[in-house]
Amino acid sequence: MPPSTITTPAHIHQIMASEFPDLPVFAPGSVWLTGAGPGDPGLLTLLALHALRTADVIVYDALVDSRIMELANPAARRIHAGKRGGRPSSSQADISRTLVDEAQKNLRVLRLKGGDPFVFGRGGEEALALAAARIPFRLVPGITAGIGGLAYAGIPATHRDVNSAVAFITGHAAGGDVPGDVDWESLGRGAPTLVIYMALNHLDIIAKRLIDAGRPADEPVAVVCRATTPSQMVIETTLARAAADAEAQGAKPPAMVVVGQAVRLRSGLDWIGALAGRALDPDPLRHT
Ligand code: SAH
Repeated sequence: MPPSTITTPAHIHQIMASEFPDLPVFAPGSVWLTGAGPGDPGLLTLLALHALRTADVIVYDALVDSRIMELANPAARRIHAGKRGGRPSSSQADISRTLVDEAQKNLRVLRLKGGDPFVFGRGGEEALALAAARIPFRLVPGITAGIGGLAYAGIPATHRDVNSAVAFITGHAAGGDVPGDVDWESLGRGAPTLVIYMALNHLDIIAKRLIDAGRPADEPVAVVCRATTPSQMVIETTLARAAADAEAQGAKPPAMVVVGQAVRLRSGLDWIGALAGRALDPDPLRHT
């Protein structure tokens, strides 16, 4: 990706040099459950940046980009509450207890999560734990990977000629090792575009279920890895080949899998590729 594509912490420090005086007060004793977006610091909200600059304690996930942590109040205590590949390094109960304990010390507690806290982010569970402990909290939404990451990959979540519905799905449940299994057959029939989070581990099973549900084996698929970071990688493939291609090309989490004709628009909308010299096709759907 061309270096100028990602916003640097230095850019943001310059913007924040003139403070925004009318932003809501981050009150001591409260918790802000905040989305950090998919990676690029330029995709933070003003409220997320304000919270980073004023927090006393920051409890952050593995998915939060290190460039974003560079923007934090240098005096803030940082607590890593990472989870990776479904294996918790801190249990959810421990994280919720930490949030309550720190807030009860009358500190400003920033709970920072990748993407949006309410999209496969357990934000609801943590907020309910705060409600139970009568800790005041605020929800600061973030740009979820399934929207922001797709935009950086040049794939629209909706496009009038292609889909009037899009489903955000977790692929984590596909192996049956997690409760609440996904109804792939209904989703395969009902949603023209599927955006599957946490899909890499079970991509072979997911693709097979979708094909069994009637999706064409040659349907376009994109595997979008580390979206909005300098090492973003997008693999274009098909349902039948997705698992093998992802493996052969070294796809690693965090990655999303996008299934549907919308993926074809990438040849016209890959704006990051265009910055690096790719010629865009202004009529990417003409062979339908
Ligand atoms: N709350 C987050 C999702 C957390 S679940 C959000 O709203 O985006 C973690 C999954 O999100 C990853 O396994 C991956 O599927 C997806 N994800 C998060 N950041 C990503 C990124 N930068 N690039 C690709 N996928 C990402």
